[in-house]
Amino acid sequence: MDIEKLLNSLEAKHPGESEYLQAVREVLLSIEEVYNQHPEFEKAKIAERLVEPDRIFTFKVPWIDDRGDVQVNIGYRIQFNNAIGPYKGGLRFHPSVNLSILKFLGFEQIFKNALTTLPMGGAKGGSDFNPRGKSDAEVMRFSQAFMLELWKHIGPDMDVPAGDIGVGAREIGYLNGMYKKLTRNCTGVLTGKGLEFGGSLMRPEATGFGGLYFVKQMLETSGDTIEGKTIAISGFGNVAWGAALKATQLGAKVITISGPDGYIYDSQGISGEKIDYLLELRATCEDIVEPYAKQFKGSVFIAGKRPWEVKADIALPCATQNELDGSDAKMLIKNGVKCIGEISNMGCTPEAIDLFVENKILYGPGKAVNAGGVATSGLEMSQNAMHLGWPADEVDAKLHQIMASIHQQCVEYGRQPDGYINYMKGANIAGFMKVAKAMIAQGV
Ligand code: GLU
Repeated sequence: MDIEKLLNSLEAKHPGESEYLQAVREVLLSIEEVYNQHPEFEKAKIAERLVEPDRIFTFKVPWIDDRGDVQVNIGYRIQFNNAIGPYKGGLRFHPSVNLSILKFLGFEQIFKNALTTLPMGGAKGGSDFNPRGKSDAEVMRFSQAFMLELWKHIGPDMDVPAGDIGVGAREIGYLNGMYKKLTRNCTGVLTGKGLEFGGSLMRPEATGFGGLYFVKQMLETSGDTIEGKTIAISGFGNVAWGAALKATQLGAKVITISGPDGYIYDSQGISGEKIDYLLELRATCEDIVEPYAKQFKGSVFIAGKRPWEVKADIALPCATQNELDGSDAKMLIKNGVKCIGEISNMGCTPEAIDLFVENKILYGPGKAVNAGGVATSGLEMSQNAMHLGWPADEVDAKLHQIMASIHQQCVEYGRQPDGYINYMKGANIAGFMKVAKAMIAQGV
């Protein structure tokens, strides 16, 4: 495989898709060695076939705002690869959404979903619509208009969307309602549904909880423990909330959360009622970070900065792509960080990852660490298909099992001769091998 040639041709075909090329480059570099050991991969042109999505749908989403004015957004669904199961992956509603971002997310999803051990292919979708500052009625009208196009391309055994940034229980509810009106199909075309209409217990917590189960295992495998560790978390959404909750339950101390305008440093730890307060604020406020500092004495708001400048044992990026760069990594390393668990998708830049790996610091990539979210979506699909619901402890036990299996796959493929575990390499190779074998078995 000639990686540079492949990347150059991708760049020529899809100019300006920087996030997408970043994700592809990382995976290709990780798998190069094993790829070249398997002539059948090259013969079947697996790399060339993997880097192009099966298909992309782009559509216009006109809707009416509360003033009665017509608004127009763009909607997308990218069905990337279904070699191991139905297309599966979230929808992101955020003004930054474009083809490059959704292609990188869809590409990552292929390998992440393969790691979960469940039969799910990779997909992603979304819109440049911004739910922040919109009324419930506006979000409903937009979601309905979005589904009016999307329904033609999805189905419970074919393509199963879910949430991502900007798409939570409220949006999933409206999308699901419209899908039912259009198709009369009531079983499980979306995951992340409300508990009253087919959702799974533990799904809201799953991404953050799974991330912490993974981080705990990384530390234990290296002879350390999570108890008593200080943790810097970025973000304040659903993922950050689940991560803070589980970190606290496991005996660690969360000292930061962040928003677009800065971060909170709370030396006493963000736990108990403070975590509940995050949820309350999210329902009512535009920006939760400053109000938090006003509410809880002893916490400070640091405007315009990212939380990676604090001294913490563990860093958990929980916000968005490329939110931790090379200079952040240098600062964390200088301050003695022991472990980075990427709970956001592609949260660290390539430069940051290289620094962690060079310095032999435990670094868990998003496609392994945050896979608990989509894994629990897979469990929701199973429950829907069986028309039943499992109790929370059963879902949690399965989530534990899945995260342990992902960890074991990373160790198997990522252990270096000196004993250091390169989790990025391990996750990329393990996910790739499963998908490549499935593609070969099913022909061209
Ligand atoms: N958006 C989440 C992810 O990045 C969840 C996707 C899903 O549940 O399908 O994996």
